[in-house]
Amino acid sequence: MAKEKVIIIGSGLGGLLCGCILSREGYSVKVLEKNRQIGGCLQVFARKGHIFNTGLNYTEGLADGQILYKYFKYVGVFDKLKLARMDIDGFERITYKNEEYKFAQGQELFIENLVEKFPKERQTLTKYVEDIKQISKKFPLYNLNVHNYQITNWEIYEQSIAQYFDTLTNNNDLKNVLCGANMLYAGLPNKTPFYIHAIINNSFVNSAWRLVDGSHHLAISLAKIIKDNGGEVLKNKEVTKFRFADKKISAVETNDGEVFETDLVISNTHPANTLKMIDGNQVYGAYRNRIMSLKNTIGMFSLYIVLKENTFEYQNYNHYYHKGSSVWGAENYSEKQWPEGFMFYTLAGSKSLKYAESVIVLSYMSYNDVAKWENTWIEQRGDDYLEFKNKKAEQLLDLVEQKFPTFRNKIGSYYTSTPLTYRDYTGTPEGSSYGILKESDQLLKTIISPKTKIQNMFFTGQNLNMHGVLGVTIAAVMTCGEVLGNDYLVDKIKAST
Ligand SMILES: Cc1cc2nc3c(=O)[nH]c(=O)nc-3n(C[C@H](O)[C@H](O)[C@H](O)COP(=O)(O)OP(=O)(O)OC[C@H]3O[C@@H](n4cnc5c(N)ncnc54)[C@H](O)[C@@H]3O)c2cc1C
Repeated sequence: MAKEKVIIIGSGLGGLLCGCILSREGYSVKVLEKNRQIGGCLQVFARKGHIFNTGLNYTEGLADGQILYKYFKYVGVFDKLKLARMDIDGFERITYKNEEYKFAQGQELFIENLVEKFPKERQTLTKYVEDIKQISKKFPLYNLNVHNYQITNWEIYEQSIAQYFDTLTNNNDLKNVLCGANMLYAGLPNKTPFYIHAIINNSFVNSAWRLVDGSHHLAISLAKIIKDNGGEVLKNKEVTKFRFADKKISAVETNDGEVFETDLVISNTHPANTLKMIDGNQVYGAYRNRIMSLKNTIGMFSLYIVLKENTFEYQNYNHYYHKGSSVWGAENYSEKQWPEGFMFYTLAGSKSLKYAESVIVLSYMSYNDVAKWENTWIEQRGDDYLEFKNKKAEQLLDLVEQKFPTFRNKIGSYYTSTPLTYRDYTGTPEGSSYGILKESDQLLKTIISPKTKIQNMFFTGQNLNMHGVLGVTIAAVMTCGEVLGNDYLVDKIKAST
C-alpha cells in the first residue's frame, strides 16, 4: 500500500518533531521550510567565530524519567544532544529591588534558598511548589499515566497569574520574586493564565539545561531522524497557496512554483498566516475571524555580544533584572524609560569552561517601535534603522552596567536584532516572541486546537497551548495524536522509555 503523504509547513521545533513522529510511523513526510536554515527559533548565526542562539537559551525536564526526557527519548533525539545542566543551587538569578534571589533545582532546595530570604514564608513556599506540581500533573500530556489529551477542568486553567498569587500570599516581595522570570513567557499578570507560569516553573525546578554549542544542533538532529526514516526536509520552500479537491487540501504550492501533492497537511506556521494562504470559501468566516483577531505576545530586542578574551567568567545561570519596584509592566515602557529590565546569559560552549566567549541580553520591544521599517527586508532597512538599533543597544548596556559595572570594557563587538528580524526569520506576526497571547478570561478562544476546520489540515507549534521547548513538544504530540490516535501514540511513548 502506498504510504500516506504528509506535508509539514515550517521546520520549527514543532514541525520537525511532527516529522520525526509521523515518518517513524510509516508516513511519507516532506517538511517545507521557507528559510535557508532550518529550525525557526532554533536558528543560530555566527559572528567572529562565535555561534549565537536566536530563540533558545535553556530548557527543562530533561533528567532521567522527567517529561521532556521521555518525549526526546521516544523521538530518538535525546542521545544526540550535548547538554549542560545548569547550577543546581541557582539556575535563575532574579534581581529585584537591587537584591539577588536564586531559584534552585529540586523542590526542597528551591524552598530552602528562598526561605533564607523570606524566613517567615516556608509554608507559603511549600504550598506554591505543591500547587505548580499539581497543576502541571493535570495538564494534558504532561503526565503520561493518565490518558488526558484535552483540557477538562477549565476552571483551574482560567485562573490568571495575579488571581493565583493574590490567594497565595500578601507578601508582595515574595510574589514579585516568584514571578521574576516572567520574560520567559511574556507574562501579563491579569491576562496570562497561571498554568503557563506553573508548568514552566515546575519543569525548570525539576531540572534546567543548556544546549552546548548552539540550539541548531537540536534542529539538525531532528532533521536527520526524519531523513533516516525516509522523509525529506527541504529549505528555501515557502508555501504560498493550498489547492483543494472535495473540501480537502490536495496539494500545496511554493513560491518557486513547485506543487507538492499531499494527503495531510500540518502547519507549523502561525495560524493567522496559514489562513491567509487559504481562499475565503474554504473555511467559515467565524473561524477565520476568531483566529485573525487573536493578539500576540510582545517581541524582543536582542543584543548579541562577543566578549574580549578571558574578561568575563562563564555563568551557569541566567539573570533576570528588574529596575523598578515591580517585576510586572516592563512591556508598558515609555521611550525615555526603556528598558525596564532584561534577561542576560552567557552561552555554553565546549571550548572554554572558565570564561564566557559571548553573551545575549534580551529586553521587550513593541512592534510599534519598528513599524516604520515594516516594509523593509533584513540588512536593507537603512541607516536610520541602524542608528535606532545602536541607540537601543547603548540604552540597554547602560542598564546592564547597573548589574555588572564596567561591563562595556569587556565587550569586543556587539550585534542586535529587533521584532522585525524575528518576523522575517520565523514568519511570526509582528515579530512576536512566543506567538498567540493566551488570555485567562478568554481561554477557549485563545487556545488553538490542532484540529482545524479543514478535514486534512492540522496545526502544531507554540500557538496551540504553550510555547517553549516543552510546550511545543507537547503540541507536536497532540497534533500527531490526532493523526495516529492518542492512546496508540502515548502507549508507544511510554513503552520507549
Ligand atoms: C528570543 C527568544 C528566546 C526564547 N528562549 C527560549 C528558551 O530559553 N527556552 C524555551 O523553551 N523556549 C524559548 N523560546 C521559545 C521557543 O524558542 C519557541 O516557542 C519555539 O521554538 C517555537 O517553535 P515552533 O515550532 O512553534 O515555531 P517556529 O520556531 O516559529 O517555526 C516556524 C517555522 O515555520 C517557517 N515558516 C513560516 N512560514 C512558512 C511558509 N509559508 N512556508 C514554509 N515555512 C514557513 C519559519 O521559517 C520557521 O522555521 C524563545 C523564543 C524567543 C523568540
